[in-house]
Amino acid sequence: MKVLVANLGSTSFKYRLFEVEDDAVEFLSKGGYERVTDYQSCIKDALRKLVESEVISTVDDIEAVGFKTVLGHQLTGCVVADESVIDDLMQGAELAPAHNPPYAEGIRLFARETPKAQLVALFETAFYQWAKPESRRYAVPQSWFGAGVKRNGFHGASHKHIAERSAELLGRDDIARRVKLLYRGEELQAVEDTPLRVVSCHLGGSSSVTGILNGVAIDTSMGLSPQSGLPQNNRVGDLDAMAVTFVMKKLGLSLEQIEKELTKSSGLLGISGMSNDVRDIEEAAASGSEEAQIALDVLVYSIRHYVGAYAFQMGGLDAIVFTAGIGENSSYIRQKVCEGLEGFGLTFDSTKNDEICASEACISAENSRIKVFVIPADEELVVARETYLLASQQLSAVGNS
Ligand code: ADP
Repeated sequence: MKVLVANLGSTSFKYRLFEVEDDAVEFLSKGGYERVTDYQSCIKDALRKLVESEVISTVDDIEAVGFKTVLGHQLTGCVVADESVIDDLMQGAELAPAHNPPYAEGIRLFARETPKAQLVALFETAFYQWAKPESRRYAVPQSWFGAGVKRNGFHGASHKHIAERSAELLGRDDIARRVKLLYRGEELQAVEDTPLRVVSCHLGGSSSVTGILNGVAIDTSMGLSPQSGLPQNNRVGDLDAMAVTFVMKKLGLSLEQIEKELTKSSGLLGISGMSNDVRDIEEAAASGSEEAQIALDVLVYSIRHYVGAYAFQMGGLDAIVFTAGIGENSSYIRQKVCEGLEGFGLTFDSTKNDEICASEACISAENSRIKVFVIPADEELVVARETYLLASQQLSAVGNS
Protein backbone atom coordinates (compact mmCIF):
# COMPACT_ATOMS: atom_id res chain seq x y z
CA MET A 1 0.00 0.00 0.00
CA LYS A 2 1.34 3.44 -0.91
CA VAL A 3 1.08 5.67 2.15
CA LEU A 4 1.80 9.41 2.07
CA VAL A 5 2.69 11.03 5.38
CA ALA A 6 1.75 14.72 5.38
CA ASN A 7 3.54 17.01 7.81
CA LEU A 8 1.85 20.41 8.06
CA GLY A 9 3.55 23.17 10.02
CA SER A 10 2.35 26.72 10.53
CA THR A 11 4.38 27.83 7.48
CA SER A 12 5.58 24.57 5.96
CA PHE A 13 4.33 21.46 4.21
CA LYS A 14 6.54 18.36 4.01
CA TYR A 15 5.67 14.90 2.80
CA ARG A 16 7.11 11.42 2.53
CA LEU A 17 5.78 8.58 0.46
CA PHE A 18 6.25 4.97 1.60
CA GLU A 19 5.36 1.54 0.31
CA VAL A 20 4.05 -0.35 3.34
CA GLU A 21 3.24 -4.03 3.47
CA ASP A 22 2.76 -5.55 6.93
CA ASP A 23 6.05 -4.93 8.77
CA ALA A 24 8.01 -3.87 5.67
CA VAL A 25 8.23 -0.13 5.07
CA GLU A 26 10.07 1.11 1.99
CA PHE A 27 10.80 4.81 1.51
CA LEU A 28 9.85 6.01 -1.99
CA SER A 29 10.04 9.79 -2.13
CA LYS A 30 9.91 13.01 -0.15
CA GLY A 31 9.58 16.73 -0.67
CA GLY A 32 8.71 19.93 1.09
CA TYR A 33 7.79 23.60 0.92
CA GLU A 34 8.77 26.43 3.26
CA ARG A 35 7.07 29.79 3.87
CA VAL A 36 3.76 28.33 2.81
CA THR A 37 0.76 30.65 2.57
CA ASP A 38 -1.39 28.44 0.35
CA TYR A 39 -1.42 24.76 1.32
CA GLN A 40 -3.66 23.80 -1.57
CA SER A 41 -1.24 24.80 -4.32
CA CYS A 42 1.65 23.07 -2.47
CA ILE A 43 -0.33 19.84 -2.11
CA LYS A 44 -1.35 19.94 -5.78
CA ASP A 45 2.26 20.63 -6.77
CA ALA A 46 3.58 17.77 -4.61
CA LEU A 47 1.10 15.30 -6.14
CA ARG A 48 1.95 16.51 -9.65
CA LYS A 49 5.67 16.02 -8.97
CA LEU A 50 5.11 12.48 -7.68
CA VAL A 51 3.27 11.62 -10.92
CA GLU A 52 5.82 13.40 -13.15
CA SER A 53 8.73 11.62 -11.50
CA GLU A 54 6.83 8.34 -12.05
CA VAL A 55 6.90 7.37 -8.37
CA ILE A 56 3.16 6.93 -8.82
CA SER A 57 1.30 6.72 -12.11
CA THR A 58 -1.79 8.59 -10.92
CA VAL A 59 -2.84 10.29 -7.68
CA ASP A 60 -5.20 7.37 -7.09
CA ASP A 61 -2.17 5.14 -6.47
CA ILE A 62 -1.90 6.79 -3.05
CA GLU A 63 -4.10 4.53 -0.98
CA ALA A 64 -3.71 6.24 2.38
CA VAL A 65 -2.57 9.59 3.78
CA GLY A 66 -1.42 9.85 7.40
CA PHE A 67 -1.37 13.01 9.53
CA LYS A 68 0.61 13.43 12.78
CA THR A 69 -2.08 15.58 14.37
CA VAL A 70 -1.09 17.26 17.62
CA LEU A 71 -3.89 17.86 20.10
CA GLY A 72 -7.55 16.93 19.83
CA HIS A 73 -10.21 18.63 21.93
CA GLN A 74 -11.87 15.30 22.75
CA LEU A 75 -10.18 12.87 20.36
CA THR A 76 -6.94 10.97 20.67
CA GLY A 77 -5.53 7.70 19.32
CA CYS A 78 -5.26 6.67 15.69
CA VAL A 79 -8.53 7.46 13.90
CA VAL A 80 -10.07 7.91 10.47
CA ALA A 81 -9.47 11.58 9.58
CA ASP A 82 -12.96 12.80 8.69
CA GLU A 83 -15.01 15.95 9.36
CA SER A 84 -15.30 15.07 13.07
CA VAL A 85 -11.49 15.17 13.36
CA ILE A 86 -11.38 18.54 11.59
CA ASP A 87 -14.00 19.94 14.01
CA ASP A 88 -12.18 18.51 17.01
CA LEU A 89 -8.84 19.98 15.91
CA MET A 90 -10.41 23.42 15.51
CA GLN A 91 -11.99 23.16 18.97
CA GLY A 92 -8.55 22.31 20.41
CA ALA A 93 -6.77 25.04 18.44
CA GLU A 94 -6.37 27.44 21.36
CA LEU A 95 -3.74 25.18 22.97
CA ALA A 96 -2.01 24.26 19.69
CA PRO A 97 -2.49 27.34 17.51
CA ALA A 98 0.53 26.69 15.29
CA HIS A 99 -0.41 23.07 14.56
CA ASN A 100 -4.13 22.38 14.69
CA PRO A 101 -5.45 24.80 12.00
CA PRO A 102 -2.91 23.67 9.36
CA TYR A 103 -3.77 20.01 10.01
CA ALA A 104 -7.51 20.72 9.87
CA GLU A 105 -7.01 22.44 6.53
CA GLY A 106 -4.62 19.75 5.28
CA ILE A 107 -7.11 16.95 5.99
CA ARG A 108 -9.84 18.86 4.14
CA LEU A 109 -7.54 19.49 1.16
CA PHE A 110 -6.33 15.88 0.91
CA ALA A 111 -9.96 14.68 1.07
CA ARG A 112 -10.46 16.73 -2.10
CA GLU A 113 -7.14 16.07 -3.88
CA THR A 114 -6.76 12.33 -3.07
CA PRO A 115 -10.43 11.23 -2.95
CA LYS A 116 -9.61 7.51 -3.22
CA ALA A 117 -7.18 7.53 -0.26
CA GLN A 118 -8.05 6.55 3.30
CA LEU A 119 -7.17 9.51 5.56
CA VAL A 120 -5.80 8.68 9.00
CA ALA A 121 -4.94 10.94 11.96
CA LEU A 122 -2.43 9.76 14.57
CA PHE A 123 -2.62 12.14 17.54
CA GLU A 124 0.63 13.04 19.34
CA THR A 125 -1.30 12.49 22.59
CA ALA A 126 -2.24 8.89 21.67
CA PHE A 127 0.66 7.25 23.47
CA TYR A 128 -0.50 8.55 26.88
CA GLN A 129 -4.02 7.15 26.91
CA TRP A 130 -3.03 4.35 29.30
CA ALA A 131 -1.21 6.60 31.81
CA LYS A 132 -2.85 6.55 35.24
CA PRO A 133 -5.29 9.38 36.09
CA GLU A 134 -3.01 10.58 38.92
CA SER A 135 -0.23 11.31 36.42
CA ARG A 136 -2.56 13.33 34.22
CA ARG A 137 -4.41 15.37 36.83
CA TYR A 138 -3.35 18.82 38.00
CA ALA A 139 -4.40 20.02 41.43
CA VAL A 140 -6.78 22.67 40.07
CA PRO A 141 -10.47 23.23 40.82
CA GLN A 142 -12.83 20.72 39.24
CA SER A 143 -14.21 23.42 36.93
CA TRP A 144 -10.72 23.83 35.39
CA PHE A 145 -10.43 20.08 34.95
CA GLY A 146 -13.89 20.09 33.39
CA ALA A 147 -12.69 22.77 30.97
CA GLY A 148 -9.88 20.43 29.86
CA VAL A 149 -6.92 21.42 32.08
CA LYS A 150 -5.03 18.12 32.30
CA ARG A 151 -1.72 16.62 31.21
CA ASN A 152 -2.03 15.64 27.55
CA GLY A 153 1.56 14.79 26.61
CA PHE A 154 3.13 15.22 23.17
CA HIS A 155 5.80 13.63 20.91
CA GLY A 156 3.75 10.42 21.12
CA ALA A 157 4.88 9.05 17.74
CA SER A 158 8.54 9.51 18.65
CA HIS A 159 8.29 7.95 22.12
CA LYS A 160 6.25 5.06 20.68
CA HIS A 161 9.01 4.37 18.18
CA ILE A 162 11.52 4.35 21.05
CA ALA A 163 9.30 2.01 23.08
CA GLU A 164 9.21 -0.51 20.23
CA ARG A 165 12.82 -0.21 19.07
CA SER A 166 14.31 -0.30 22.57
CA ALA A 167 12.27 -3.45 23.33
CA GLU A 168 13.70 -5.06 20.19
CA LEU A 169 17.26 -4.05 21.14
CA LEU A 170 16.76 -5.51 24.61
CA GLY A 171 15.45 -8.79 23.19
CA ARG A 172 11.89 -8.23 24.43
CA ASP A 173 9.85 -9.21 21.41
CA ASP A 174 6.76 -9.60 23.60
CA ILE A 175 6.90 -5.88 24.42
CA ALA A 176 7.76 -4.83 20.85
CA ARG A 177 4.68 -6.75 19.65
CA ARG A 178 2.56 -5.10 22.33
CA VAL A 179 3.69 -1.62 21.24
CA LYS A 180 3.00 -2.43 17.60
CA LEU A 181 -0.63 -3.30 18.40
CA LEU A 182 -1.29 -0.49 20.89
CA TYR A 183 -3.68 1.53 18.75
CA ARG A 184 -5.63 -1.31 17.24
CA GLY A 185 -8.45 -0.97 19.73
CA GLU A 186 -7.79 -4.30 21.38
CA GLU A 187 -6.90 -5.11 24.97
CA LEU A 188 -3.22 -4.54 25.79
CA GLN A 189 -1.31 -7.68 24.84
CA ALA A 190 0.01 -9.73 27.78
CA VAL A 191 3.74 -9.59 28.46
CA GLU A 192 6.20 -11.81 30.31
CA ASP A 193 6.54 -11.47 34.09
CA THR A 194 9.79 -9.46 34.07
CA PRO A 195 8.94 -5.78 33.63
CA LEU A 196 10.74 -3.59 31.08
CA ARG A 197 11.37 -0.03 32.32
CA VAL A 198 12.62 2.49 29.77
CA VAL A 199 12.96 6.27 29.91
CA SER A 200 12.87 7.91 26.50
CA CYS A 201 14.50 11.34 26.14
CA HIS A 202 13.32 13.12 22.97
CA LEU A 203 15.65 16.13 22.96
CA GLY A 204 15.28 18.45 20.00
CA GLY A 205 13.99 21.92 19.19
CA SER A 206 11.20 20.81 21.45
CA SER A 207 11.96 18.21 24.10
CA SER A 208 10.19 15.75 26.36
CA VAL A 209 11.02 12.80 28.60
CA THR A 210 8.62 9.84 28.87
CA GLY A 211 8.60 6.91 31.29
CA ILE A 212 7.65 3.68 29.48
CA LEU A 213 6.68 0.56 31.45
CA ASN A 214 6.25 -2.61 29.37
CA GLY A 215 5.91 -0.53 26.21
CA VAL A 216 3.25 1.82 27.56
CA ALA A 217 3.78 5.41 28.74
CA ILE A 218 3.29 5.96 32.47
CA ASP A 219 4.01 9.70 32.42
CA THR A 220 5.65 12.44 30.38
CA SER A 221 7.20 15.84 31.02
CA MET A 222 4.97 17.84 28.67
CA GLY A 223 1.59 18.79 30.03
CA LEU A 224 -1.58 20.57 28.97
CA SER A 225 0.43 22.22 26.21
CA PRO A 226 3.95 21.65 24.87
CA GLN A 227 5.13 24.45 27.21
CA SER A 228 5.87 22.37 30.28
CA GLY A 229 8.66 20.01 31.30
CA LEU A 230 12.20 20.55 30.01
CA PRO A 231 13.41 23.97 28.90
CA GLN A 232 12.68 24.02 25.15
CA ASN A 233 14.70 25.87 22.50
CA ASN A 234 12.82 29.15 23.09
CA ARG A 235 9.83 28.02 25.18
CA VAL A 236 9.76 27.99 28.92
CA GLY A 237 9.21 24.46 30.20
CA ASP A 238 8.28 24.02 33.87
CA LEU A 239 7.39 27.24 35.68
CA ASP A 240 5.61 28.13 38.88
CA ALA A 241 2.22 29.41 37.66
CA MET A 242 2.43 32.33 40.12
CA ALA A 243 5.35 33.73 38.12
CA VAL A 244 2.82 34.96 35.57
CA THR A 245 0.85 37.17 37.92
CA PHE A 246 4.07 38.20 39.68
CA VAL A 247 5.71 39.61 36.52
CA MET A 248 2.45 41.19 35.46
CA LYS A 249 2.63 43.31 38.60
CA LYS A 250 6.39 43.60 39.01
CA LEU A 251 7.41 44.25 35.39
CA GLY A 252 4.07 45.59 34.17
CA LEU A 253 3.80 43.01 31.39
CA SER A 254 0.48 42.40 29.64
CA LEU A 255 -0.92 38.89 29.17
CA GLU A 256 -0.01 39.06 25.45
CA GLN A 257 3.59 40.06 26.26
CA ILE A 258 3.88 37.27 28.81
CA GLU A 259 2.54 34.70 26.36
CA LYS A 260 5.00 35.90 23.74
CA GLU A 261 7.98 35.88 26.11
CA LEU A 262 7.13 32.43 27.49
CA THR A 263 6.84 30.94 24.01
CA LYS A 264 9.42 32.90 22.02
CA SER A 265 12.20 34.19 24.26
CA SER A 266 12.40 31.70 27.12
CA GLY A 267 13.89 28.19 27.32
CA LEU A 268 17.54 27.77 26.29
CA LEU A 269 17.42 31.09 24.46
CA GLY A 270 16.08 32.86 27.54
CA ILE A 271 18.75 31.50 29.88
CA SER A 272 21.73 31.76 27.52
CA GLY A 273 20.63 35.10 26.11
CA MET A 274 22.38 34.18 22.86
CA SER A 275 20.90 31.21 20.98
CA ASN A 276 18.19 28.55 20.99
CA ASP A 277 20.54 26.00 19.42
CA VAL A 278 22.56 23.62 21.61
CA ARG A 279 25.43 23.66 19.06
CA ASP A 280 25.92 27.42 19.56
CA ILE A 281 25.40 27.16 23.31
CA GLU A 282 27.98 24.36 23.67
CA GLU A 283 30.48 26.39 21.67
CA ALA A 284 29.87 29.52 23.75
CA ALA A 285 30.14 27.56 27.01
CA ALA A 286 33.45 26.05 25.85
CA SER A 287 34.67 29.61 25.21
CA GLY A 288 33.82 30.61 28.76
CA SER A 289 30.28 32.02 28.60
CA GLU A 290 28.68 31.53 32.03
CA GLU A 291 25.17 32.12 30.69
CA ALA A 292 25.68 29.43 28.05
CA GLN A 293 27.01 27.00 30.67
CA ILE A 294 24.05 27.55 32.99
CA ALA A 295 21.64 26.95 30.07
CA LEU A 296 23.27 23.55 29.46
CA ASP A 297 23.32 22.79 33.19
CA VAL A 298 19.61 23.58 33.53
CA LEU A 299 18.80 21.33 30.58
CA VAL A 300 20.84 18.43 31.97
CA TYR A 301 19.42 18.92 35.49
CA SER A 302 15.90 18.88 34.14
CA ILE A 303 16.45 15.73 32.05
CA ARG A 304 17.94 13.92 35.09
CA HIS A 305 15.06 15.13 37.24
CA TYR A 306 12.51 13.40 34.98
CA VAL A 307 14.61 10.28 34.35
CA GLY A 308 14.95 9.82 38.11
CA ALA A 309 11.26 10.46 38.79
CA TYR A 310 10.07 7.94 36.21
CA ALA A 311 12.62 5.30 37.24
CA PHE A 312 11.25 5.58 40.78
CA GLN A 313 7.61 5.40 39.64
CA MET A 314 8.41 2.29 37.58
CA GLY A 315 10.30 0.60 40.43
CA GLY A 316 13.61 0.61 38.54
CA LEU A 317 15.23 1.29 35.22
CA ASP A 318 16.50 -0.96 32.42
CA ALA A 319 17.36 1.58 29.73
CA ILE A 320 17.68 5.28 28.96
CA VAL A 321 17.25 6.25 25.31
CA PHE A 322 18.35 9.48 23.62
CA THR A 323 16.65 10.59 20.42
CA ALA A 324 16.03 13.71 18.20
CA GLY A 325 18.44 16.53 17.27
CA ILE A 326 20.16 17.04 20.65
CA GLY A 327 19.77 13.43 21.80
CA GLU A 328 21.32 12.03 18.62
CA ASN A 329 24.08 14.61 18.21
CA SER A 330 25.19 16.04 21.54
CA SER A 331 27.68 13.69 23.19
CA TYR A 332 28.13 16.39 25.86
CA ILE A 333 24.49 16.35 26.99
CA ARG A 334 24.35 12.53 26.95
CA GLN A 335 27.55 12.32 29.01
CA LYS A 336 26.31 14.81 31.60
CA VAL A 337 22.91 13.12 31.95
CA CYS A 338 24.53 9.72 32.58
CA GLU A 339 27.41 10.82 34.83
CA GLY A 340 27.81 9.54 38.40
CA LEU A 341 25.08 6.91 38.21
CA GLU A 342 27.28 3.86 38.88
CA GLY A 343 25.54 3.45 42.26
CA PHE A 344 22.26 2.88 40.38
CA GLY A 345 23.83 0.32 38.05
CA LEU A 346 24.67 2.57 35.10
CA THR A 347 28.23 2.54 33.77
CA PHE A 348 28.63 4.89 30.86
CA ASP A 349 31.07 4.31 27.99
CA SER A 350 32.45 7.77 27.16
CA THR A 351 34.55 6.50 24.27
CA LYS A 352 31.57 4.94 22.49
CA ASN A 353 29.56 8.05 23.31
CA ASP A 354 32.10 10.30 21.62
CA GLU A 355 32.43 8.06 18.59
CA ILE A 356 28.82 7.79 17.52
CA CYS A 357 27.06 10.40 15.44
CA ALA A 358 23.33 10.35 14.70
CA SER A 359 23.22 6.57 14.39
CA GLU A 360 21.80 3.77 16.49
CA ALA A 361 24.19 2.63 19.21
CA CYS A 362 24.53 1.33 22.74
CA ILE A 363 26.69 3.75 24.74
CA SER A 364 26.73 2.06 28.13
CA ALA A 365 29.57 -0.26 29.17
CA GLU A 366 29.25 -4.01 28.46
CA ASN A 367 28.68 -4.77 32.14
CA SER A 368 26.23 -1.91 32.78
CA ARG A 369 22.93 -3.19 34.19
CA ILE A 370 21.12 -0.10 32.90
CA LYS A 371 21.65 0.20 29.15
CA VAL A 372 21.94 3.53 27.37
CA PHE A 373 20.96 3.77 23.70
CA VAL A 374 20.93 6.37 20.99
CA ILE A 375 18.06 5.67 18.59
CA PRO A 376 17.42 8.06 15.70
CA ALA A 377 13.92 9.57 15.74
CA ASP A 378 11.58 8.21 13.08
CA GLU A 379 8.16 9.68 13.59
CA GLU A 380 7.16 9.40 9.92
CA LEU A 381 7.78 5.65 10.01
CA VAL A 382 5.37 5.33 12.94
CA VAL A 383 2.71 7.43 11.17
CA ALA A 384 3.15 5.40 7.96
CA ARG A 385 2.76 2.08 9.77
CA GLU A 386 -0.19 3.18 11.90
CA THR A 387 -1.87 4.65 8.81
CA TYR A 388 -1.33 1.40 6.93
CA LEU A 389 -2.75 -0.70 9.78
CA LEU A 390 -5.89 1.40 10.20
CA ALA A 391 -6.42 1.85 6.45
CA SER A 392 -6.09 -1.94 5.91
CA GLN A 393 -8.64 -2.54 8.68
CA GLN A 394 -11.02 -0.05 7.06
CA LEU A 395 -10.59 -1.60 3.62
CA SER A 396 -11.18 -5.13 4.89
CA ALA A 397 -14.25 -3.90 6.84
CA VAL A 398 -15.65 -2.46 3.60
CA GLY A 399 -14.74 -5.67 1.76
CA ASN A 400 -16.57 -7.78 4.38
CA SER A 401 -19.73 -5.68 4.54
P1 ADP B 1 12.77 19.75 15.87
O1 ADP B 1 12.31 19.61 17.29
O2 ADP B 1 12.65 21.14 15.37
O3 ADP B 1 12.25 18.69 14.94
P2 ADP B 1 15.38 18.41 15.91
O4 ADP B 1 14.95 17.19 16.59
O5 ADP B 1 15.94 18.28 14.54
O6 ADP B 1 14.33 19.58 15.89
O7 ADP B 1 16.49 19.12 16.85
C1 ADP B 1 17.05 20.33 16.49
C2 ADP B 1 18.00 20.76 17.60
O8 ADP B 1 19.01 19.77 17.78
C3 ADP B 1 18.76 22.04 17.29
O9 ADP B 1 18.00 23.16 17.66
C4 ADP B 1 20.00 21.88 18.16
O10 ADP B 1 19.75 22.40 19.45
C5 ADP B 1 20.19 20.39 18.28
N1 ADP B 1 21.34 19.88 17.52
C6 ADP B 1 21.41 19.54 16.22
N2 ADP B 1 22.65 19.13 15.88
C7 ADP B 1 23.40 19.21 17.01
C8 ADP B 1 24.77 18.92 17.32
N3 ADP B 1 25.62 18.46 16.42
N4 ADP B 1 25.17 19.12 18.61
C9 ADP B 1 24.32 19.56 19.54
N5 ADP B 1 23.01 19.85 19.31
C10 ADP B 1 22.57 19.68 18.05
